[in-house]
Amino acid sequence: MTPYDAPLPQAPAAPALIDGFGRQVTYLRVSVTDRCDLRCVYCMAEHMTFLPKREVLTLEELDRIASAFVTLGVRKLRITGGEPLVRKGVMGLFENLSRHLRSGALDELTLTTNGTRLAEFAADLARLGVRRVNVSLDTLKPDLFRQLTRGGDLAKVIAGIDAAQGAGLSVKINAVALKDDNAAELPDLIAWAHGRGLEATLIEAMPLGEIEYDRTDQFLSLKAVRSHLESFWTLTETDHRTGGPARYVRVEETGGRLGFITPLTHNFCEACNRVRLTCTGTLHSCLGRDDASDLRAVIRAGADDAALKNAIRRAVDAKPKGHDFQIARAAAPAVSRHMSTTGG
Ligand code: SAM
Ligand code: SF4
Repeated sequence: MTPYDAPLPQAPAAPALIDGFGRQVTYLRVSVTDRCDLRCVYCMAEHMTFLPKREVLTLEELDRIASAFVTLGVRKLRITGGEPLVRKGVMGLFENLSRHLRSGALDELTLTTNGTRLAEFAADLARLGVRRVNVSLDTLKPDLFRQLTRGGDLAKVIAGIDAAQGAGLSVKINAVALKDDNAAELPDLIAWAHGRGLEATLIEAMPLGEIEYDRTDQFLSLKAVRSHLESFWTLTETDHRTGGPARYVRVEETGGRLGFITPLTHNFCEACNRVRLTCTGTLHSCLGRDDASDLRAVIRAGADDAALKNAIRRAVDAKPKGHDFQIARAAAPAVSRHMSTTGG
């Protein structure tokens, strides 16, 4: 063996990102835009004012910050928004981030989308190493879909799901449970998803950002939904966990997995492994709190990678123990930012 064949000395691995309560952060959600081609009634106001371009991180800045997290031990990246697939050049970001999959530093690169542009991008996503996508879909009724999304075309989303499955991606359907709108349809939606071999997850509406509606009118407890489902289905607990707020059961009759995300009726903070980066470079260590660190200011002030990582460590260290969500009639939203800004 020549000296040139000898293994290179390994740089000492950076210590993992551990918060002040001993939880290791291994999961980063990255919102790449606050814009969207839909206007879901529980998410956005009808006439949204979107951020000026200069405030939004460039694709290079997003890559730099996300990659710093990867070197600090984050193993899973989820790209979200707004609608991530409306961001111009977003596939270039996927392409760049996919280097971490190839190097083995990252276990998973994934995406949450409304599905409207998935038909266009599914094959490229699969080629770049994306294995799973979450598609948000609250109803299978075209008219209700148009109403809930204020103008969306259900056929495009279904075509997107078809394309994703055709490209070999595994798809999870996320549905927000809404009392008057889709409560009665949820069993059909779940059965439809399971019939296509898709996982389904129900989400409780969360008080994020001002919208035109009174949220107490839309709020539907998943406890009530679950009891209703149990009147005709057998739901078997599973120990499947993702470190997030979802709890999973198996529906024996359909053979599919069903998740419940219940931030309001169930406290999930003790096992939380995730933080969120907004498209403006604000790091939120908790979805339900306004605490934030401005990483855009850090990088635009010319910080080198070591300073950026220090800023990330400080932010994670301050991750709060838990959140303060509650839905009280006529109360202001617990958190002033919309889900589309933070990234769902
Ligand atoms: N546009 C993409 C989509 O719809 O999948 C990604 C971003 S969207 C903000 C992410 C998820 O957040 C969606 O599943 C959406 O239904 C959910 N969401 C938005 N606002 C919410 C709210 N106030 N409460 C609960 N879930 C919400
Ligand atoms: Fe857009 Fe997703 Fe919000 Fe609907 S939930 S308005 S698709 S960002």
